[in-house]
Amino acid sequence: MPVSAVAADRSVCAPLPVLGRDVRVPLVTGGEVDYAALDYAASAPALQRVWDDVAAYAPYYGSVHRGAGYLSQLSTDLFENSRATIAAFLGCRIEGGRGEAPSGKGGGGRREGDQVVFTRSTTDSLNLLASALPDRTRVFVFETEHHASLLPWERRPDTAVTYLNAPRTPQQAVDTLEQALAARDPYGPALVCVTGASNVTGELWPVKELAAAAHAHGARIVLDAAQLAPHHPVDITELDVDWVAFSGHKLYAPFGAGVLAGRADWLQAAEPYLAGGGASRTVARRTDGGVDVEWHTTAARHEAGSPNVIGAYAIAAACQALTEAGFDGLVAREQQLITRLREGLAEVPEVRVLSLFGEDAARVGVLSFVVEGWNSSHFAAALSAEYGIGVRDGLFCAHPLVRTLLGSAPEEPGECGAPEAAPGEKSLNAIRVSFGAGT
Ligand code: PLP
Repeated sequence: MPVSAVAADRSVCAPLPVLGRDVRVPLVTGGEVDYAALDYAASAPALQRVWDDVAAYAPYYGSVHRGAGYLSQLSTDLFENSRATIAAFLGCRIEGGRGEAPSGKGGGGRREGDQVVFTRSTTDSLNLLASALPDRTRVFVFETEHHASLLPWERRPDTAVTYLNAPRTPQQAVDTLEQALAARDPYGPALVCVTGASNVTGELWPVKELAAAAHAHGARIVLDAAQLAPHHPVDITELDVDWVAFSGHKLYAPFGAGVLAGRADWLQAAEPYLAGGGASRTVARRTDGGVDVEWHTTAARHEAGSPNVIGAYAIAAACQALTEAGFDGLVAREQQLITRLREGLAEVPEVRVLSLFGEDAARVGVLSFVVEGWNSSHFAAALSAEYGIGVRDGLFCAHPLVRTLLGSAPEEPGECGAPEAAPGEKSLNAIRVSFGAGT
């Protein structure tokens, strides 16, 4: 379907206004063109609405949870309101300010209320959770994960990790997980970590089914929603996952802030992620000369130091903008663009689109491919230099997955962004095109 027909279809949203639409870039061939931002999966352009909201707030900028002055009080309110907005966006069960956990039971009586903790990014959120695991937790993770969800778990010596082989269908993913959970040794608590949408193939993972499998076997599950949240509604209660992690800069907000939302109990029981002011409720010298600390049991426990108020505020503004625009129309538009892109690429015999789950997989606006006879890095550089199209090349911080999809030996090189094979040789990395609400 031509893009003009996409725009004419009234069941789809118009693209949301984003920053960077007017950026012109020079071409090696001379002249300049409008920049085509097709690297949303790395960092999406900020929504104009987010930028405007942040600019409107900027004059009122003040310290949070610290100052008695008017601007500090206002900033504290906005910071905590941002937390509540994000909690609502994620369908969290949460009460009170500062990530306070409610006393009542959650859905089905299975869990207490949720906390929303502000972090720096998805990577930070998952590292926070890794640091908060109860002793002797066994983590189950597919080898296909982004490094942010693959790597944090082994850093604690008593955490055991079971790496699961790449499934070739969503059902195989569920079966593989069930078998691994059923066969596990009685080591301790179990946690499953899974991504909602692949940052390489864009394919959706069967999160609800994996969550059901995890819970049926007494395990918990954390969803890496870095690539899912910008494209689809993510409802923690509906999906029945225990935690969700995502980054502001992929959700049309600026860099520097992320979220870990979900069950409070492990987070409350864990040592604070960082020790310092804000995380501590009281600190007193002991008679033996040492120091006694009582740590907060709210989200503040893991938010020591002066928080990134602007980052939190911007994420909440993005959540609000997406909710108001409506995911139905955004998803419909994106699906039409994906179809158009896939149809176009299918007309080029040299192109091979990378896929784990095959032709019929449900997907978001992220697609990776290789072009026979081309070095992927050179191809991506040519798209930029000759056409003003910004894509990404490399292994996308998901080395095991991309190597599986390319059929490379595990030890073959091909670091992110590194030009490796000469033109005509087998490609050791790929080209990724990604887009979203502003496209
Ligand atoms: N998870 C997935 C699926 C991602 O695509 C990314 C980033 O590309 C991350 C986690 C890490 O996000 P961040 O770099 O914002 O921590």
